[in-house]
Amino acid sequence: MHELYLAESILNIVQEYATQQHFSKVNSISLSFGRLSCIESKSLQFAFEVQAKDTLAEKASLDFQILPAVIHCFSCEKDLEVETYSAICPKCGGEEVILTGGTEELRILEMDVD
Ligand SMILES: [Zn+2]
Repeated sequence: MHELYLAESILNIVQEYATQQHFSKVNSISLSFGRLSCIESKSLQFAFEVQAKDTLAEKASLDFQILPAVIHCFSCEKDLEVETYSAICPKCGGEEVILTGGTEELRILEMDVD
């Protein structure tokens, strides 16, 4: 379950910011990741809650922005949002497709702090 590790990384970053910017409480954290990056937002939420206990992020809510999976098809020259990645273009059936979005790693977009 790599969400445990991810939650820990988030908390480390939060801790670092807190030292630099002298805040004492985190209200919310906006995170983004690609739809195909194998991150389960519910597990991450849970892992975060467990590990944030007794830290300045204890009451922080997490806000997830999940980036869509996008493929580019070289046959019809289109970028298409897809549910899951398959190597066939859903529009024209072409097989020359590449994945251009959806595998983005976890990032912290912003934090609301006091
Ligand atoms: Zn196509």
